[in-house]
This record gives sequence, structure tokens and C-alpha cells, in this order.
Amino acid sequence: MTSTKNFSRWADSASARPTLIDGFGRRIDYVRFSVTDRCDFRCVYCMSEQMTFVPRAQILTLEELAELGWAFVELGVHKIRITGGEPLVRQNVLWLFQRLGQLRDYGLKELVLTTNGSQLARLAADLKAAGVARLNISLDSLDPARFRRITRNGDLATVLGGIQAAQSAGFQHIKLNVVILKNRNHDEVVDLVRFAIDKGLDISFIEEMPLGQIGDHDRAEAYYSSDAIHADLTQVFTLTPTTETTGGPARYYRIPDTDSRIGFISPHSHNFCEDCNRVRVSAEGRLLLCLGQENSSDLKSTLRVYPGDRERLKQTIISAMVFKPRGHDFQLDGQPVILRHMNHTGG
Ligand code: SAM
Ligand code: SF4
Repeated sequence: MTSTKNFSRWADSASARPTLIDGFGRRIDYVRFSVTDRCDFRCVYCMSEQMTFVPRAQILTLEELAELGWAFVELGVHKIRITGGEPLVRQNVLWLFQRLGQLRDYGLKELVLTTNGSQLARLAADLKAAGVARLNISLDSLDPARFRRITRNGDLATVLGGIQAAQSAGFQHIKLNVVILKNRNHDEVVDLVRFAIDKGLDISFIEEMPLGQIGDHDRAEAYYSSDAIHADLTQVFTLTPTTETTGGPARYYRIPDTDSRIGFISPHSHNFCEDCNRVRVSAEGRLLLCLGQENSSDLKSTLRVYPGDRERLKQTIISAMVFKPRGHDFQLDGQPVILRHMNHTGG
């Protein structure tokens, strides 16, 4: 780690607000918090059937997560995504959304959430009131039996009810996240896009990433590229490329005369690291500098050894920026080099 004296080097002193800049000159203005590693689903690409979860005492408290939110926003971060595990199964998580929602008066532009949708019927209206701007909802199949097989224990009707509840609560530009696996759901891409158009939703197709041992399928065999999905869709729809962005790695297309955007997140076929603007905090309080590398910094120690010392916390974050690698190194063949699962990482 660099010495305390050098910390300010990584903050942009020229601008009025501090700015996080990594060693490759990329501005970091987006952070994702995984608020729990637990989940009510066991999606085959994300978890193994028997998961060992982190003991609760090792998970950041909601107060620690709120403190982190304040520190990042004071460092110029203007987008926070809450994810997991399934964030909405965490007890009292609404309190965190309400606290982070207050940061909109202090520079936070977007508080957003990624969820599997299972708890939205119960929580959508409160999340909207807390200031959550947009939702990403995972939906890999429209067939109940297949949905159950992919999530291992998810209930499609509950998730569809959650999407409906979110729309009724006033959420707009909801985006569906779909992980496509060959011979599992690749034949549903057209139906999923039709569903998105019908409901006025955006939709993004994600290539599976080799995070953690999953034991269910061979990832190389299940690989179905974004280009293959694009080709399948163009049999039915006209896809017009657009430069629109949601500040992430997705490449977007529009279908004329519809409101839906079709996105592709392609870590294998179209590497997106060059413009990376984000870091993640795991449920255990590790600042993960790259989705596909192990480089990290321990924020939980700083939070627990020096409670309330926000300046020290900010300095720990700033000094970690130099360890952000140039990019991931995902390989489809062989063992995953990243042993943590996506639920730890915070997808
Ligand atoms: N539980 C929530 C959900 O499923 O939306 C939030 C956490 S989940 C880890 C976030 C996103 O990561 C989901 O869209 C999920 O499909 C995606 N994901 C999980 N494991 C993945 C993997 N190995 N490769 C690509 N995407 C993955
Ligand atoms: Fe749970 Fe989301 Fe992982 Fe599925 S992708 S097991 S819903 S954390």
C-alpha cells in the first residue's frame, strides 16, 4: 500500500470535488455494494447447490454500509448500485436505502438496485419512496419449469408479480438482466425481447462469467455469445445500434417503434475494461477493484478499528485506486481463476 502522504495524489486536486482516479487514468464514479451474500434463489451460473455463507458477524452492518456510501459520495462517486446475493432478503435493508437516498442532496445522482424480483411485491413502493431511481431485475426464462430449473428454487409467478408491482410503484426504465446459457434458455431470446417490448422494459443479455465453482454445467459448453444472440434476434427484429449508455458496459440497440433498448454485456466477446468506471464492495467489506481479478483492499478493518473516522476511510479508498488492474482475464476453459462466486462479488 502507498503511504498516507501519497494518498492525495490519487484524488484530483484540480476539481472542486475530489475525484477518484485509478492508475490508468480512469475516473471511478460508480460503486456497487453487495449487501449480503445470501439469496433465496440458487441460480446455476451463480451459486453451487450447497453454499457456505459468510458468518453474519463478518458481514458489514447496515450502519457501516451507510458510512461507506457517505465516504464514496464525498469522493465524487455519483452512482451507487445495491446488489448481492439478493439484497432484498437482508433484514431492515429498507433503512439502508433510506439513508443512502439522503445522499442525493450531497452529490449522489443515482441510487439503483439489482434484484431477482422475489421481494418486490412487498417492497417496491417503499424503495421508490426511499429514492431508488431504477431497477435491474433478473429474468432468465418465461417458462415456469425452466425458470425453476435455472434458479433451482425460484418461482416465476412471484417474480412477474414483482415486476408488475415495481411498475405500479412508478419505476420506469426497468431493465431485465438475462444470462443466456446454450441448451438451457438460448431458444428464448426472441420471446424475452417480445415480453420486454410488451411491458415497456429494457433488456440486457449477459454472457456467463467464470466466477466460482458452480458444479452444475461446463461453462465453456454453455457459452452462447452475444453475437449469436444478436444473430437470433435479427431474424425477427430490426436492431438499430445506438450510442445510448446507462453508464455501464452494455452495448445498446433499439427496435424501431418500441420503447425498449436491447443491451449486450459481453465480457468474453467484447471486452469492456478500457472504460471501466466502477469498483465493488463485497458483503464482507472488501473493496474489489475488478470483477475478474482478486485485487482488493480491506475496508471493514478501517471501519471497525477506526469507527466514525471518515477521513481515514476515504484515504483507504483513495490509496486502493492504484491497485485497480487494467482489466479482467476471463478464460472459458479450465478452472475459474476467480474463486469467489458472483453473490460475493456483487454482480
Ligand atoms: N440477486 C440479484 C439478481 O439476481 O439480480 C442481484 C445479485 S446477482 C449476483 C446480479 C446479476 O449477476 C444477475 O443479473 C445475475 O444474473 C448475474 N450473474 C450472476 N452470476 C453470474 C455469472 N457467473 N455470469 C454472469 N452473470 C452472472
Ligand atoms: Fe441469487 Fe442473484 Fe445469484 Fe441468482 S444471480 S443466485 S438470484 S444472487
